Amino acid sequence: MPIKAPRGTYDILPPDSRKWQAMEQSLKRVAHIYGYEEIRTPVFEHTELFERGVGEGTDIVSKEMYTFFDKSGRSLTLRPEMTASCARALIEHSAHTGLLPLKWFYCGPMFRYDRPQSGRYRQFHQFGAEVFGSSSPLVDAEVLMMVVRMLQSIGLTEYLLHINSVGCPSCRDSYRQELLDFINPIVNDLCPDCRQRSRANPLRVLDCKESRCHEAIKGHPRLLDHLCSGCARHYQRVRDTLTRQGICFEHDDRLVRGLDYYTNTAFEIHIPGIGAQSAVGGGGRYNGLVKAIEGPDLPGIGFALGLERLLLALEKQDSALPGKRDLEVFVAVMEAEYEDEAVTILQQLRDAGIVADKDYLERKARAQLKYADKSGAALVLFVGADEVKQGFVTVRNMINKEQTAILRTGLIPAITRLLHHNEEAQAQ
Ligand code: AMP
Repeated sequence: MPIKAPRGTYDILPPDSRKWQAMEQSLKRVAHIYGYEEIRTPVFEHTELFERGVGEGTDIVSKEMYTFFDKSGRSLTLRPEMTASCARALIEHSAHTGLLPLKWFYCGPMFRYDRPQSGRYRQFHQFGAEVFGSSSPLVDAEVLMMVVRMLQSIGLTEYLLHINSVGCPSCRDSYRQELLDFINPIVNDLCPDCRQRSRANPLRVLDCKESRCHEAIKGHPRLLDHLCSGCARHYQRVRDTLTRQGICFEHDDRLVRGLDYYTNTAFEIHIPGIGAQSAVGGGGRYNGLVKAIEGPDLPGIGFALGLERLLLALEKQDSALPGKRDLEVFVAVMEAEYEDEAVTILQQLRDAGIVADKDYLERKARAQLKYADKSGAALVLFVGADEVKQGFVTVRNMINKEQTAILRTGLIPAITRLLHHNEEAQAQ
């Protein structure tokens, strides 16, 4: 049996990899415009970082981590998300002693051992960002505005932005008891996971995805009614700013984060019509996280977008990310003895930044032309006896099929002009 990629993982081959590149470039461009710089961290970390930074009570840590012991017996884990790694890197490099706020973005693979299905993989990719060092509600609003701009930049127009405030630990203390009083009489109507959650962390019952739990908790007390005055003001400012800037959102009482270091704004982005895994991204404020992993008392906020799900959503919305190779010029060689000349011309084109290629399978002239056509080449240059002897090349425009002779001495400007003409003609 030939070896296959492990379950829950997959390969990205051309031409699909072009879509990934285009999407990542758009997202990076937006992050750059909003003042973010890239951070790269190792794909594995000490297991303890995620136990403390993501939280032992979460599904990610309790069920989904790829944990292994290395040859010296250390427990390491493939990163299931990036926020903890960013916070660890910040502390390790004392990055907070420089200019604040720190605005970082990242893009890369994450690993979670979950049951694979459409939109859920064991190795998947996230694009995310974190801001450390400001607790201003305007930063929360800016992060949300950037997320919306990112979706627009890749052509996603139909999305739902859900937001809530989870307050601070003291808001949640007063809320937890009221929620427990509500849940206790109906606990047997909940799914087995939620029965357990209701004992350990009743807030997590609210965001259970099971429909029986949705039904059972209808009319539950709202965390919004328990926000202290500071947290209520913070949330109001975020909502007012979004409204003023024309960002559509929906307040969602069931959107919670179970861990103590999450504070204030929490959000999720859903795309209608992409199936059960409709969340393409989520995030929120975590003012207690950096301190929880023994760093300074530094506020933070961040989010992550799932790239597989963004692509799925784009396919559903028929949005066009590039899928085809953008070959500009193909150099066709008429006879083997002119190969050297063809290589020289190819190199000249490439030196000038033109996307060019040639045949490497000793195809006949006609087959080379066919190959160039299938590859989407805009121009084909013929290099044969007449051309080499008389110092010109024959250029065939694959769009309008016109053929012209161009002197070798003026080759690059002439090719550039032709490519430019073609582009303009296609744009019209
Ligand atoms: P989270 O870190 O759990 O808030 O996830 C943020 C985003 O990452 C989600 O909204 C998904 O788009 C994506 N995501 C999370 N887990 C997976 C997975 N197993 N497979 C594919 N995408 C995922």
